[in-house]
Amino acid sequence: MSPTVMVRRGLVKRCPVCGSGHLFRRWVDMAEDCPRCGLHFHRSPGMWMGSWFINLCVDQAAIVIVLVVAVAATYPNPNLWALGIAGGIIAVGLPFLFFPFSRTIWTALDLIAHPLDLDEGVAPGFELDFDHTEPRARS
Ligand SMILES: [Zn+2]
Repeated sequence: MSPTVMVRRGLVKRCPVCGSGHLFRRWVDMAEDCPRCGLHFHRSPGMWMGSWFINLCVDQAAIVIVLVVAVAATYPNPNLWALGIAGGIIAVGLPFLFFPFSRTIWTALDLIAHPLDLDEGVAPGFELDFDHTEPRARS
């Protein structure tokens, strides 16, 4: 399985290993393991910092794009109150909406950087092509 497929699955909230959906019990409540292949999503302590970073980058980019477009469209008299309210709504709402996507995207990126190990409990048949090719440097 190529890294492109894994990231594409992550972009649509699916397991990067098997492509299964239903990984979230509620919007922000991710299952501990994939219901189909058994991948344990929290693979190492602090793993979700990468997810948090992706979410932050997407939020910051969205705020900048919306504000730049809004100011350009209303120049020379932009409505600063409307811009502030719109920026605030994006700053608070988008991280919530993007949360599950950032988790599955980060899971895919983590699997690309640190392939599955034999002891991770993933069901046979779902292991990735490039697994077990290099020793892992994780603890
Ligand atoms: Zn899976």
